[in-house]
Amino acid sequence: MAQYMSMDHLRFLLYEVLEVDKLCELPRFQDHDKEGFDILLTSVKDYADQFMYPCFRECDEKGAYYEDGKIIVPEQVGEYMKASGENGTIGMTFDYEVGGMQLPHVVEVSCGHIAEAANNHLTGYSGLTNGSANLIVTFGSQELIDTYVPNMLAGKWGGTMCLTEPQAGSSLSDIVASAKLNDDGSYSIEGQKIFISGGDHEYSENFVHLVLARIEGAPAGTKGISLFVVPKHRPENGELVPNDVVTAGDFQKMGQRGYCTTHLVFGEENNCKGWLVGPENKGLLCMFQMMNAARIDVGTTAASVASAAYYASLQYAKERPQGRRIQSGGAKKGDAPQTTIINHPDVRRMLLLQKSIVEGSLSLCLLAAKYQDLAEHGPEETRTMYHDLLELLTPMVKTFPAEKGQVAISNGLQILGGYGYCSEFSLQQYYRDVRIMTIYEGTTGIQSLDLLGRKVVAKNGEVMKNFTKEIIETIKAASNYDDLKPYAEALKNASKTLESTLMHLLQFAMSGEHERYISDASIFMELMSTVTIAWQWLHMATIAKTSLVTGNTHLSTEFYENKIHTMKFYFKYELPKIKGHMETLKHQDSLTILEENKTILA
Ligand SMILES: Cc1cc2nc3c(=O)[nH]c(=O)nc-3n(C[C@H](O)[C@H](O)[C@H](O)COP(=O)(O)OP(=O)(O)OC[C@H]3O[C@@H](n4cnc5c(N)ncnc54)[C@H](O)[C@@H]3O)c2cc1C
Repeated sequence: MAQYMSMDHLRFLLYEVLEVDKLCELPRFQDHDKEGFDILLTSVKDYADQFMYPCFRECDEKGAYYEDGKIIVPEQVGEYMKASGENGTIGMTFDYEVGGMQLPHVVEVSCGHIAEAANNHLTGYSGLTNGSANLIVTFGSQELIDTYVPNMLAGKWGGTMCLTEPQAGSSLSDIVASAKLNDDGSYSIEGQKIFISGGDHEYSENFVHLVLARIEGAPAGTKGISLFVVPKHRPENGELVPNDVVTAGDFQKMGQRGYCTTHLVFGEENNCKGWLVGPENKGLLCMFQMMNAARIDVGTTAASVASAAYYASLQYAKERPQGRRIQSGGAKKGDAPQTTIINHPDVRRMLLLQKSIVEGSLSLCLLAAKYQDLAEHGPEETRTMYHDLLELLTPMVKTFPAEKGQVAISNGLQILGGYGYCSEFSLQQYYRDVRIMTIYEGTTGIQSLDLLGRKVVAKNGEVMKNFTKEIIETIKAASNYDDLKPYAEALKNASKTLESTLMHLLQFAMSGEHERYISDASIFMELMSTVTIAWQWLHMATIAKTSLVTGNTHLSTEFYENKIHTMKFYFKYELPKIKGHMETLKHQDSLTILEENKTILA
């Protein structure tokens, strides 16, 4: 079995870096312990090894498609949803009362990482079912919960999120799908939704769509959007009857081809019923619960796909003989034995780049999930702080693994040389699969606007201060070790670069030049997320160093030394890039703000 993720790295993050076993001291998680977490992770890994990874190429080859009014997906989707329902993983974080296991989010994200690295074509089906069931549990009536959630958690009914319309993608304020109140308290739904992941297939008995629409007479913009449960088949007199939801097609994509992306039409026959979830006109606020969880999920999936690509290219680099080491006489000395390409510094650089991106990204995703646990179930007095920190991290969790995951996989593909470009090897598939991650769940551009426009200035900068405090804690801990001191110093300087750049930009916001303030938000995202991942690396290296010094090692000495080595790599090759970002952000020229439709790009 080829390696696609590292259980050692995952356990290191969970138990040594994040100390998630301490979560079990909280009343919410008191029935759980580290041994239980480990049994679950091992069983997910076994399932991923035996079923998910072996069909990963087949899911791509078969793909999903539309034929005779039906969406055809690889048959493995059916088996996967059935297993996910039977083993309880769809609702693992849900309350016991609704059939969940009350596990921490950080454990759920860890299980997700294993499964997504094994086969990212299947995981979205259960992920969206989890997210939409969670919306119903949080904001829906007891009747809606009883009607839909048990079948969703059992893997029998799929769930979706229906936001996007042809004219409303990034800008949800332009949604036009409509809802009209009926005498029986339901609403008549009308409209089209496009790009709906997991929206229809023959292996689920029913689909529960969580749809954003406008109630007749609602105000324009985001303030007039409500959320509805709209099933494909609605329960009526103890039976399921068609609910006038028509699947009009499946978008053919470059990657994630086994994961269908549907076009749904609601109410063409004027017979589509929906039920309000949460208050009228507050639909977008409710939907943010699902969107935020999905953003962590997308970041984790990107890190996971990049992980699988890393291990595939590592294995290849260990086996491929090509060229000679310079010190053995190089090409001139043809009788010197060939070396395997892993020994060429440039190939090792590409491998270390991948490792630093993959493991740094995963560290950030799991940290965000732990913050979510603490925000929801931690001590009352710290809940708001963790909630705010999670809000700040979320756009970076979505964006860094997705953007840098592409870079990592591209380097992995490069390691295979010409073979990397060929269908016979999996690297090209990972490269295609990861490409969507910077687009769905809010593009990088939109995440960056959120980070700079809202998150860093939240609560008059108090959230940003708490974030800096966390970084300072890590700097202090690292400074206890002489060999880590230069890196602690580098992170301190990087943090100052971040602060001074933000201060510079804020002058534009304060003088009313809002477009100027926000125009290079994506560059700011790169700067801030590069610093954030450096923080993750210094934290991991400090924990590794402590384990080595105290001898309290759960893994090999080499494992901990590798963490410190990879941190050093990230600090040498990636962190210095923020100086360029700062220079761009502080540059006097404003080259992208032009009058509407100016023909400079013609
Ligand atoms: C495979 C796939 C699966 C999907 N799954 C779902 C799903 O399950 N449910 C769902 O509801 N949607 C889904 N989507 C839709 C997805 O969320 C949107 O495609 C995405 O939000 C972008 O919207 P758009 O495609 O309309 O692009 P646009 O919004 O037109 O954006 C085009 C470009 O313009 C930029 N841009 C737009 N507005 C601004 C702005 N104000 N400032 C700066 N830049 C801007 C964007 O960053 C982007 O680069 C899916 C899409 C795909 C491709």
